[in-house]
Amino acid sequence: MARRKLIAGNWKMNCLSADGQALAAGLAAKMKAAGAARFDMAICPPFPLLSTVLAAVAGSAIAVGGQDCHAKEKGAFTGDTSAWMLKDLGCAYVIVGHSERRTYHKESDADIKAKAQAALAAGLKPIVCIGETLEERDAGQTLEVNRRQLHGSLPDGTTADKVVIAYEPVWAIGTGRTATPAQAQEVHAMIRAELVGRLGDGEGNALRILYGGSMNPGNAAELLAQTDIDGGLIGGAALKVDDFWTLAEHSPR
Ligand code: PEP
Repeated sequence: MARRKLIAGNWKMNCLSADGQALAAGLAAKMKAAGAARFDMAICPPFPLLSTVLAAVAGSAIAVGGQDCHAKEKGAFTGDTSAWMLKDLGCAYVIVGHSERRTYHKESDADIKAKAQAALAAGLKPIVCIGETLEERDAGQTLEVNRRQLHGSLPDGTTADKVVIAYEPVWAIGTGRTATPAQAQEVHAMIRAELVGRLGDGEGNALRILYGGSMNPGNAAELLAQTDIDGGLIGGAALKVDDFWTLAEHSPR
């Protein structure tokens, strides 16, 4: 089944407003010049830059997302941002369960599922991240860990048009060490089989599974050519217009 690639940038805690504006405007200019791009693109800046970035990409086909959301709609949760607030600003996506959230904020699969559920209720598409650590890979637990995280984190009501999954091996994030195309495809194929088992053939085969972990313009073509790799969630290489655009252009025709 042909799935349209999604190239999503996770800016993490980078960029002040002038840099963010220039980066988003540069990408919007490339997207407009490309006319009908053959891939979807989304960028996820830090919360304080969302309005600036939304204004910079307005009128282009680039979507914007948050990097996290709270599971509740509103209330006494100092420092948090709800999915409804992101939707209200004009976001289309939100990343949930990034390994940096799982590690530094001790988020469990249940926490991530609740956030993804809130995203769906607010009308956002959650990009649900899963991935094993190096210790888990070395212990031969890669498939088991990802299977557990997948089923523990996916929201009820998951369908292919509403949810995106990102497989991000923790040992490959920000390390310059990328999973080989075969290593990534092995996990993506397992995720695909689990999705088909859970959602049925149609939805399971249509849902997009992104790869993330040191993806860059040099390795993107081979990764994006794998059967079950439907795009990328990109950190470091999403911070430069030319790198991110060149990477996206490696989406197969
Ligand atoms: C990420 O933050 O999701 C990521 C994949 O980062 P990097 O591309 O820098 O490894």
